[in-house]
Amino acid sequence: MKIADRVSHLEAEGAYAVLATAQGLEAQGRKIIHLEIGQPDFQTFSHIRKAGMEAIAAGQTRYNPPAGLGKLRQVIAEDAGNRRDVSFTAQQVLVGPGAKPGLFFPALAIIEPGDEVIYPDPGFPTYSAMIGVAGGNPVPVPLSEENNFSFDLEAFDRLINERTRLIILNSPANPTGGVIPLADLEHIAAQAQKYDCWVMSDEIYARLAYDKIPVPSIVSLPGMIERTILVDGFSKTYAMTGWRLGFMIMPEGLAERVELLLTHSIGCTATFTQFAGIEALTGDQSMVDEIVEEYQKRRDRIVAGLNSITGMHCKLPQGAFYVFPNIKSFGLSSKEMARRLLDEAGVAVLAGTDFGDYGEGYLRLCYATSIETIDQAIECMAKVLR
Ligand code: PMP
Repeated sequence: MKIADRVSHLEAEGAYAVLATAQGLEAQGRKIIHLEIGQPDFQTFSHIRKAGMEAIAAGQTRYNPPAGLGKLRQVIAEDAGNRRDVSFTAQQVLVGPGAKPGLFFPALAIIEPGDEVIYPDPGFPTYSAMIGVAGGNPVPVPLSEENNFSFDLEAFDRLINERTRLIILNSPANPTGGVIPLADLEHIAAQAQKYDCWVMSDEIYARLAYDKIPVPSIVSLPGMIERTILVDGFSKTYAMTGWRLGFMIMPEGLAERVELLLTHSIGCTATFTQFAGIEALTGDQSMVDEIVEEYQKRRDRIVAGLNSITGMHCKLPQGAFYVFPNIKSFGLSSKEMARRLLDEAGVAVLAGTDFGDYGEGYLRLCYATSIETIDQAIECMAKVLR
């Protein structure tokens, strides 16, 4: 039976694929240290879990509007606007089961077959997947290690043109932890206006930034709110990956169309989950500060550990919970290195190329795990790489 071409390019996400291999080894009795999957090791904060359980107990278990509960949309509009110094209406906010639908559905609503879409490479694999499904032409822009994995602006300027329909940004970034500085955002914004394209800003790690560095958003720049789709969610900030709750904010005309895509695909996002989301945004925020402080310690530990291994070079990332060390001096491909670290050191990591061709020569390690686990992983890797 024939399957449509639009799904033929899709591949498994590296993190899920490596996790499955690692679990296969564990089933054979091997001990594996997991640094592959990108999710907080913390439990969802207790006041948020309680709000979710109370919503179930109160019978909040039925359909709700496809765009999300009015109260949650209002709270998101206020919180997201205040954090970025702009004003959003609740009508601009759509709720979805995770941030991923906030990427995929607006992409379907914007990209026409043949449109060019600029996106970061190395970058989150969903970007190239959704561009392909929408029939767009993927145009990867390299992120350069020299400027802390912000966009390579010279390459960006060479690649943007009249056919560019959408520019995708992710700051802080998965897989590099890089933060795009304000001056670079201003440059990208000016180009987006010159070529009249949309910008999709994936800010799911916006609150996981270290050393108190500011994380500017392109939506705050003059003339950008009209052309920006802001994507964010609860998975990382509030350790809620399994609740499936995220949101997207965009101009109202586009939101009306995307709402219909939600109507006809997911129907609506789980109702009690959204009550937990209201509590997350309106309740005590001190836990977020605590986890950021803890991630920063872990980041410092893993970067120091990696740099103590001869041949490994790791920049200090400014956000998210990933490091992206340079392994070029070992003379192995990223995939081969990741395979050997799993087989010989029992440490599951991802190849930089799981995030695009420009990830060759790097690995991605997630440090959302304990200091003890980080120390063990470094020790096991150092032994094999010596
Ligand atoms: N964007 C980026 C950059 C991510 O790393 C992730 C999660 N790995 C997502 C979006 C998706 O988040 P969610 O689980 O809320 O769908």
